[in-house]
Amino acid sequence: MGLYLHIPFCNGKCAYCDFYSAFTNEELLDSYLTALIREIKQWGGKINRPIDTIYLGGGTPSLLNHRLVPLLKAVYESFTVLDNAEITLELNPADNVLEILQNAKAAGINRISIGAQSGDDEELSLLGRRHTAADTENAVKTARELGFDNISLDLMLGLPNSNTETFKKSLDFVLSLSPKHLSAYILKIEENTRFFKIKDTLNLPDDDSICDQYLLMCDTLEKAGFCHYEISNFAKNSFESKHNLKYWDCEEYLGLGPSAHSFLNSKRFFYPRDLKQFIKGNTPIPDGDGGDLNEQIMLSLRLKKGIKTDTLPPKAIRKCKLFAQNGLGVLNDDIFSLTDQGMLLSNTIISEILEEF
Ligand code: SF4
Repeated sequence: MGLYLHIPFCNGKCAYCDFYSAFTNEELLDSYLTALIREIKQWGGKINRPIDTIYLGGGTPSLLNHRLVPLLKAVYESFTVLDNAEITLELNPADNVLEILQNAKAAGINRISIGAQSGDDEELSLLGRRHTAADTENAVKTARELGFDNISLDLMLGLPNSNTETFKKSLDFVLSLSPKHLSAYILKIEENTRFFKIKDTLNLPDDDSICDQYLLMCDTLEKAGFCHYEISNFAKNSFESKHNLKYWDCEEYLGLGPSAHSFLNSKRFFYPRDLKQFIKGNTPIPDGDGGDLNEQIMLSLRLKKGIKTDTLPPKAIRKCKLFAQNGLGVLNDDIFSLTDQGMLLSNTIISEILEEF
């Protein structure tokens, strides 16, 4: 089973972000740590599954700093954590990275995911990020000096004023830092964000330009030795995110913290987006059954490894053939998977295939 711990705090709000996060202080961090440890102990007493991935996401989990040690200690005491477990911390390069990474090391964390987003300081400032490209460089260097080999970087494409040339610079910047893994997301203007309020004034690239940026990225990363193993994720050999693969492979995970989702015993459930309630103590809300064939197909098609066609009705196989003939997919023996171009149209392709069930 994977364990996700949500840390819903940030030192500011980025202009594009609709994740559940709030401003914090030391007192609130202490109360949250106590509540999270309470949930860890309760769940550890209820379910007996070995854990092979732990993911601290947010928000900004690196804000926990010295609290990382007691938090992970509670996990080790409450669950059976396998020796080779992948344990990831999301790190904001704006923070005091040396101290945080020292605490992360002491806590047993072995994978660092750094929110680089861009290699251009003007873009970072427009996004409302509180770090510079030099901070990202420093975070990667510090992590490496402390012995973290498994480093992932986050990158964004389709930013205001961007084109393939500006994006190439950011891509070259992140490649110069030699990460083992890259996650790259196309900017989406979500409601309840600062960007949504000013969306008419943003000089957003059109769909064709975003597609060009995406395809440039796929090509550049493949040449640099990365495997494009999921729509938005690229990894050097064997450095795929084991935790995130659980989501796409329909494997079980437990998510703790406000807004965290879980999938256990074929059931989905989540904690409400309410920090105060979580600290007081609340129970997760059921969210129906999960993991049926439709869901498996939907999730597997996000992955390079694709789907087995022997699970598909004949009409859906005919559609796969059509997609393959048009360069959107590859049909090899009994496996259908999407090409880079197909990944850009994944939502449409997935619904076309599911329509035939
Ligand atoms: S640091 Fe991450 S979670 Fe926090 S506001 Fe920015 S994008 Fe959202």
